[in-house]
Amino acid sequence: MNNYKVWFVTGAQLLYGGDAVIAVDAHSTEMVAGLNASGKLPVEVVYKGTANSSKEVEAVMKAANNDETCIGIITWMHTFSPAKMWIHGLQQLKKPLLHLHTQYNREIPWDTMDMDFMNLNQSAHGDREFGHICTRMRIRRKVVVGHWQDEETQRKIAVWMRVCAGWADAQDMLILRFGDQMNNVAVTDGDKVEAEQRLGYHVDYCPVSELMTYHAQVKDEAVDALVATYFQSYDHDAELEDPSTEAYRKVWNSAKAELALRAILKAKGAKGFTTNFDDLGQTDGSFFDQIPGLASQRLMAEGYGFGAEGDWKSAALYRTVWVMSQGTGCSFLEDYTLNFDGANSSILQAHMLEVCPLIAAARPRLEVHFLGIGIRKSLTARLVFTSKTGTGCTATVIDLGNRFRLIVNDVECIEPKPLPQLPVASALWIPMPNFEVGAGAWILAGGTHHSCFSYGLSAEYWEDYAEIAGIEMVHINRDTTISEFKKELRMNEVYYMLNKALC
Ligand code: MN
Repeated sequence: MNNYKVWFVTGAQLLYGGDAVIAVDAHSTEMVAGLNASGKLPVEVVYKGTANSSKEVEAVMKAANNDETCIGIITWMHTFSPAKMWIHGLQQLKKPLLHLHTQYNREIPWDTMDMDFMNLNQSAHGDREFGHICTRMRIRRKVVVGHWQDEETQRKIAVWMRVCAGWADAQDMLILRFGDQMNNVAVTDGDKVEAEQRLGYHVDYCPVSELMTYHAQVKDEAVDALVATYFQSYDHDAELEDPSTEAYRKVWNSAKAELALRAILKAKGAKGFTTNFDDLGQTDGSFFDQIPGLASQRLMAEGYGFGAEGDWKSAALYRTVWVMSQGTGCSFLEDYTLNFDGANSSILQAHMLEVCPLIAAARPRLEVHFLGIGIRKSLTARLVFTSKTGTGCTATVIDLGNRFRLIVNDVECIEPKPLPQLPVASALWIPMPNFEVGAGAWILAGGTHHSCFSYGLSAEYWEDYAEIAGIEMVHINRDTTISEFKKELRMNEVYYMLNKALC
């Protein structure tokens, strides 16, 4: 977040004379300083001055497009700012837009207010004029209404800022696919060309043989050091520390796999990756002797996007979740198995191995067990834990052929029972509004069995994300009913068919 800035541009005009603009400028400076001093905003706001003409608006929009540190623009109309002067600039703008409908003064100064005050403080109608031109031009934006010093106003701006950071991060995101999609799977596949145009990220195939050239170069001392870190970081049986055991060798090989993966991701500048359990390198060369699940778990916690079985859409979305939530409590997850239990019916979320320890309720446990899936059925190291309880939100993007759809479901993580025979990391949740409606709506929407979960990102984040990306979003929540949800899906089908710009 420290690398990013959000620009603040105040709309005005010269009708009221230079003194008015000077006052507008002083108020804006004070407001931006106040926003930055609030401690509520994750990204610094930079005041870029008043825009008083079409030329000035266009210049600041073009400058924002070309400044790599600028991840979004906040506009506010202090005085009346005739909106035709915003047309050319808004046509140029490529960065996310937040329209802040606020006012310098909180309350009307009843005793002293005169016509000069009225001429200067016109956001009540100036922001409506600006809103009109945005709507007329179909400009996607977030509108935040509230006094700039209010916590709720600042919270909404902060949400949008985190989304802007995730968006900016995705625009040069490279996802490496080690191996292809799992054969025949439909929902995790999709149009990579459209994804790059619409969502920003680039997805490349990387031969596992190339990954293995990095694997071959990993130094034994580096592996030893990483294994020592594991033993410090995670609970484990004493046997694991005995170098004469098979379990120790498996942990050691897992650490080597992690170092190889991190090395190639860094060398290629990749922010995420996918794996395929049937493609782990040839045994006549350097190879993974087990699925690199522990590596995937730890790299996810570090912020690398991850999708299993070639699921590059989930890998990219997880990376964005990690950026937006600033690395707190998020994971790639899979709908694993159902627990029918009346009003508490729930879904166990897990994967073979790859669940991020950022959602763990307690210190994870490093364990080695046999895993009978994939090309190399073998003893396999993994972190075992259960998730924290509490509310969260899970999200996925699917490709409908003519567009992407973002599906978001509020969920409640509940206390699971012990799983002595299933030593994998997991979460247990009830999808809102309840299991039957939540799972039913998700299935009607065409949602994946993989999704990107977080505790900290509410649907408001996803609404901002979908607005910036210009993609469809459906939100399954406490108020969802199947019949209304089906209507929404049908309406959206028509909307997106007619609105070709979004398809
Ligand atoms: Mn899976």
